[in-house]
Amino acid sequence: MARAYVALGGNLGDPAAQLENAIARLAQLAQTQLLRRSRLYRTAPLGPAGQPDYCNAVVALETGLPPVALLDALQLIETQLGRVRGEHWGARHLDLDLLLLGDLVCDNARLRLPHPELAHRRFVLQPLAEIAPGLELPGHGAIEQRLAALPPWEVRPWT
Ligand code: AMP
Repeated sequence: MARAYVALGGNLGDPAAQLENAIARLAQLAQTQLLRRSRLYRTAPLGPAGQPDYCNAVVALETGLPPVALLDALQLIETQLGRVRGEHWGARHLDLDLLLLGDLVCDNARLRLPHPELAHRRFVLQPLAEIAPGLELPGHGAIEQRLAALPPWEVRPWT
């Protein structure tokens, strides 16, 4: 079994409902237990202005799934929930990123761990700090230290 942290995000459709649904599905994965989940956060979008705010959250799982099986499961949930009736087939409304899986380090065509953006995104680190205070980020020290060093970014409760 290994501790996995998964980040969830979306800004199209009904992001809060999609994230809640995704968390329920993560809790039902084989060989997997949901340990903790963060609140839902409303965060300013990266990139071009004019997009809707993002909804973000992070969950902690205990899982016996091998790394690629876990990634497959995340991608299946993205596919199942990331489509909204009436909109272009395949448009993505839900993004699931595997942040950490135990102390696994890998860098191949399908999976990079730790997630390369983990230490750079306040909208990931803030929910992660809520459920894993004191977490050591590989190469960046304690999560609180890292958060203090990042530039400000708008992250607040969803409602
Ligand atoms: P994105 O469009 O940002 O969701 O990226 C999805 C792609 O990133 C997929 O092809 C994954 O195989 C790849 N990927 C590499 N590392 C990770 C990771 N740690 N978590 C999720 N997807 C990953």
